[in-house]
Amino acid sequence: MNDHKVMSSVLDVDKIRSEFPALTRTVHGKPLIYLDNGATTQKPLQMIERVRKFDAEEYGTVRRGAYKVSEYSTQLYEEARQKVADFFGAGSKSEIIFTSGTTQAINLVAYSFGKQFVKAGDEIIISNIEHHANTVPWQVLCEERGAHLKVIPVNDEGELILEEYDKLLSNKTRIVAVNHVSNALGTVNPVKEIARRAHSVGARILVDGAQSSSHMKVDVQDLDCDFYTFSGHKMYGPSGVGGLFGKMELLEQMPPYVTGGDMIMQVTLEKTTYARPPARFEAGTPPITQVIGLGASIDYMNGIGMDNIAEYEHQLLEYGTKCLEKIDGLRLIGTAKDKAAILSFYLDCVHPHDIVTCLDQDGIAVRGGHHCAQPTMIRFGVPATARASMSFYNKTEELDALAESIRRTIKIFS
Ligand code: PMP
Repeated sequence: MNDHKVMSSVLDVDKIRSEFPALTRTVHGKPLIYLDNGATTQKPLQMIERVRKFDAEEYGTVRRGAYKVSEYSTQLYEEARQKVADFFGAGSKSEIIFTSGTTQAINLVAYSFGKQFVKAGDEIIISNIEHHANTVPWQVLCEERGAHLKVIPVNDEGELILEEYDKLLSNKTRIVAVNHVSNALGTVNPVKEIARRAHSVGARILVDGAQSSSHMKVDVQDLDCDFYTFSGHKMYGPSGVGGLFGKMELLEQMPPYVTGGDMIMQVTLEKTTYARPPARFEAGTPPITQVIGLGASIDYMNGIGMDNIAEYEHQLLEYGTKCLEKIDGLRLIGTAKDKAAILSFYLDCVHPHDIVTCLDQDGIAVRGGHHCAQPTMIRFGVPATARASMSFYNKTEELDALAESIRRTIKIFS
């Protein structure tokens, strides 16, 4: 395409790339082109080094020992909680609960909020383009409580149809659970407006932020969401950690999800009283090292600037969209006006799994499958898609290579 100049220099991408050792790998003898950032992101040296230092020199258990090693570890752990709270604009760090990731965070809310607030005949609203992690827990809850699941439909571009959403809302609606960004299509949902409408009927809103947290500035107070979930491994941090923001007035009223050590006020053999949030929802020894690592990945993203990240990735999206649109027989699945840097596509002549295998031979890592969003695939009449999902460390040259490799794949199969 040769118009790399269209990209502004909001970021020093070469410098950024030099901080990600994984990007120097070769695959099948080719330099790795990593375009599966929607699944998981690679890790910067600063985060890797922070984790190494913590494990080597600072490691201890948290919240228990009244000795120096444990006190210091606890201090670092709580500092990381503050970083997460600041990053997402939470009013207080006590509104941040560490979990193993988005999946566990949504399950926590479905179980705990559900137990407290959802009864037979109530309604829960999700959308047609949710990850299974934001679908199955609500189905289970509805089954258990005798509640009903309602689904916001999408148009052919993959945008939620808000007029239809309005028709679903009623005083029976207890919670609306939608993603901020669809992992299968890239659609950015208007969650602030969705929240406003949910609140107007007295319902609550959970925003699945797995795909937005590392790609745009998120302010949970501005969005006015009641819950927001995120995963560390999609934020340039470790796997095994993520979390939940919840408004304190709600968390205070919610029963524990997992019980055991560290989440109690007092235990006698007859009765247990529970700690206040966030401890109430963090039973057992947490993923201490991973939390520290997540704090470091947040420092790293802040260093680049979330607005710069969003602007650069938007340029990548526009560039990549133009590249793929020129390929005969390629259908982009998800063409919303407001999109994150995700390109999901379908070729009539090649199954997505074969596309992935062929691209892999060129060192290009993309995902092929239903992306844990089977209802989305059904809506768009495809069994699966191939998906290139970008990060601020990707370059336009890599998108040229992607397009070239897709063309070669088409030739092989035609
Ligand atoms: N929701 C969305 C939109 C996602 O993209 C993902 C991960 N692909 C999840 C939820 C689940 O996240 P995790 O596997 O980190 O729990």
